[in-house]
Amino acid sequence: MPDPCLLYPERIVEYPDPFETIPVPLYELLWDSHVVAIALEYSRQLVTKPWSPLDDASSLYQCALSTADGTKVGGYPDWVQDPWYPKCACGATMDHLVSFSSQEFDGATWFRWLPIEERDVLHAEPPLRQSVQWAANCSFGDAGTMYVFICRECPDWPTTAGMQCS
Ligand SMILES: [Zn+2]
Repeated sequence: MPDPCLLYPERIVEYPDPFETIPVPLYELLWDSHVVAIALEYSRQLVTKPWSPLDDASSLYQCALSTADGTKVGGYPDWVQDPWYPKCACGATMDHLVSFSSQEFDGATWFRWLPIEERDVLHAEPPLRQSVQWAANCSFGDAGTMYVFICRECPDWPTTAGMQCS
């Protein structure tokens, strides 16, 4: 059972998971854009490790611009494995509705998804960090995510769920 925790919803901008099929890789389109310039400047101030997920366009896209890896309503699924959109009994491809994630960020995405007000947990003892990173204390497999999908083509909006983990 997940631990009770408070929910502070925040509207964000995210782009499709890099493993989705997109006509032209979005990171190529975004590389010279204002969004990327802001992300790069922001990350240079925060990331001081020898290896940075921001060293190339595809890593920057995956870690800073694509999907949020925490629990969310709407947006794009943050796939742990290959993309999987279920088909409804009516034949329509179902839409992502909600994701329940084991953790709100990881070692490659904290600079984008960990609120600035909570950055002190990165250097805190494990229980404090876990209270933010694994806020619900609920793991789906090995740090996985449970996805809920909905069909809006059917009048009763049926849902189905699936899970992926590493
Ligand atoms: Zn349907």
